[in-house]
Amino acid sequence: MQWLSALGLIVRRLVFPPRCRVCGELLPWTRAGGMIADEAEDLVSQFHGELAPVMCAFCRRGVEVPSGQRCAACGVPLLGDISEPCLCGHCMDPARPLARVTALFLHDDGPAMAVRALKYKNKRALAPPMGRLLFVRALRAHLDAEGKRWDIDLVVPVPLHGKRLRQRGFNQASLLLCAFEDEAGLRVCHRLLRRRRETTPQAGLTRKARLKNVKGAFELTPGRDIKGKRVLLVDDVFTTGSTLTACATILKKHGASEVCALVFARRDMAR
Ligand SMILES: [Zn+2]
Ligand SMILES: [Zn+2]
Repeated sequence: MQWLSALGLIVRRLVFPPRCRVCGELLPWTRAGGMIADEAEDLVSQFHGELAPVMCAFCRRGVEVPSGQRCAACGVPLLGDISEPCLCGHCMDPARPLARVTALFLHDDGPAMAVRALKYKNKRALAPPMGRLLFVRALRAHLDAEGKRWDIDLVVPVPLHGKRLRQRGFNQASLLLCAFEDEAGLRVCHRLLRRRRETTPQAGLTRKARLKNVKGAFELTPGRDIKGKRVLLVDDVFTTGSTLTACATILKKHGASEVCALVFARRDMAR
């Protein structure tokens, strides 16, 4: 009956031809999703492979991964000639709540368009391929030498406030975690953190204003015990890190042993 399902697919594609979720352009015929096959492939090729079924080549242009000299913990670009891994001024403090931040892409062109279409145009079809890219990156960064055990106990999306969640209908960070679900040894806790109050959107605010905006904005859902747990926070965009830092502060306050973050794209801003 394979021919029947193939025929069904052809009919479906003729009736609902696949379109770019960003610009609406008709897409060439490709195999549907789940295209991460070769682990050795670089991240830029994986972006194109994963997103091709939902984004046209024009909207996928200009994909870049963070490069150059960067802080070993938060990834902010560093000036000067540095030969060894080194930390920025903000990360020098050993008591910093966020141990490290891994960003897949720079928040420009293709990756930025994917994030904006997902978040502001409700294009949820973009979430599974974006989530798979995050998942593969997390898998590679956090497997032990035998390639079995995660050194993460919990995966937690950065929460949206209830009002914003109702307006948007979904939390994009939660949606990105769809690829993480059902993985052995990895717990995704969608409601571990919650917003205590509504905050002004961070876009357009300075670093200082952002920090003030999110200070005390999060809390641990009552009744959750995270003592000694290693937590991976996931979000769509990293700008100054104030939201992630506020979340990490709460997690550390409640006994998490280590908090790291994984984001889809980072905006390079002066700190
Ligand atoms: Zn397009
Ligand atoms: Zn840093």
